[in-house]
Amino acid sequence: MTNEIVFLDAVEMAEKMRAGELTSEEITKACLERIEKFDAKLHAFLYLNAEGALETAREVDRLRAEGAELHPLAGVPIALKDNIVTRGMPTTCASKILEGWLPPYDATVVERIKEAKLPIIGKTNMDEFAMGSSCEHSAFGSTYNPWDLERIPGGSGGGSAAAVAAYLVPLALGSDTGGSIRQPGAVTGTVGAKPTYGAVSRYGLVAMASSLDQIGPVTRSVRDAAALQELMGGHDAYDSTSLPGDQSGLLSAVTEAKADQLKGLRVGVVKQLTGEGYAPAVRDAFEKTVAELKAKGAEIVEVDCPSFDYAMAAYYLIMPAEVSSNLARFDGVRYGLRVEPTDKAVTAESVMAATRAAGFGPEVKRRIILGTFVLSSGQVDAYYGSAQKVRTLIQRDFDQAFAQADVLVSPTSPTTAFKLGEKNDDPMSMYLNDIATVPANLAGVPAISIPNGLDEQNLPIGFQVIAPAKEDRLMYEVAQLVSSLSEDVPAKCPARDWKE
Ligand code: GLN
Repeated sequence: MTNEIVFLDAVEMAEKMRAGELTSEEITKACLERIEKFDAKLHAFLYLNAEGALETAREVDRLRAEGAELHPLAGVPIALKDNIVTRGMPTTCASKILEGWLPPYDATVVERIKEAKLPIIGKTNMDEFAMGSSCEHSAFGSTYNPWDLERIPGGSGGGSAAAVAAYLVPLALGSDTGGSIRQPGAVTGTVGAKPTYGAVSRYGLVAMASSLDQIGPVTRSVRDAAALQELMGGHDAYDSTSLPGDQSGLLSAVTEAKADQLKGLRVGVVKQLTGEGYAPAVRDAFEKTVAELKAKGAEIVEVDCPSFDYAMAAYYLIMPAEVSSNLARFDGVRYGLRVEPTDKAVTAESVMAATRAAGFGPEVKRRIILGTFVLSSGQVDAYYGSAQKVRTLIQRDFDQAFAQADVLVSPTSPTTAFKLGEKNDDPMSMYLNDIATVPANLAGVPAISIPNGLDEQNLPIGFQVIAPAKEDRLMYEVAQLVSSLSEDVPAKCPARDWKE
């Protein structure tokens, strides 16, 4: 029989622990049992930290019994995307090149999670080095979508999204460079937020494209996402791009959100992020929600962001450029895999080449080569330089849009979950999944995906709320108000009824 504990949200679990109705050990065990039963179907986890998680859980229960002051989320289990480094716990980025590597330190977010005493259940699957939109680029095999096991859970953070959607854990962390938290959120019916660039420390996040990467929460409710960002965010001296101050006030923005705040709220519908290219069901669900917002008194304004049409092109120049530089550290010497060539002399260069040939998958190689090309002398101005100019234009479009609207909204992803294998031969069509999510990364503004009903095949649809930089509080508040508009949202994932 299913232990119903697993269906609770993180904040509900925390309340029940405080009320003495549940212990962290009970919750952690319930999650671990569910993982044992169902993760074979999903393949959401690459590593389980069962003993470590139970140890933390027991410590929380003991401290609570002693009357110690605990963090509000203490004792609530969490899973971490496998590109967030964890001391003594494998961190592979779903790549063969990092197989067997044990990081000697914790990421800042992990340190904060440990300080707050959340049992760390394990590490979740992803596209290799966070490059992809389907989780199919994992070197260790794909993750499956709990809504339909023949479909992708989104990517790159498909493991975290599937684990949360299927009630294996209430909380998870993802990383979002172009949509890897929000798009998996959309196609698994979960909540995924990309905070303002710099709001959450990137120290200990294995870098993909440093000017775009952000760590963020993956949850089943807006409230949980706000609580988790508040816990892990705030200034970190180890990250030179970290914003000053803390991230307090996010949770209260959600708990205090009242429907009448929608009155007069200027909601901008971005012309370039709707219409053609979006599946009819996605468009209909989006329009329905916008109409509901209007009915509740929001002022709907259409905003024009012409440079967004070039966002994908700019992203696929800037991101690979940074990838090619960041991934140069995987050289067969410093971390993980080392392959010596058998057919030629063993030199630094030949070992590097053999290690990378064996250690990186095709998508990673494609991006390194593309990035190296766009940065090469003779090409750099035409490609990388132009892309940076487009990035500035996109930022200006956002500035203008936010002069007319308090928040911007769009569908998160142009379609619902597609079938595994469907886009394998066509990297371009895979890339286009991020058409609505990429602009926020290029501008550093916060954006969140929340569930927005189901399509005709019972697959989840996502709704995106984008706020101005450092207005994460507003983003969560509006996301909460949108989520409470209709009662059938979020719909129940079929994983709820899985038996064995
Ligand atoms: N899907 C996008 C890509 O492949 C985004 C990845 C990400 O956000 N990490 O680049």
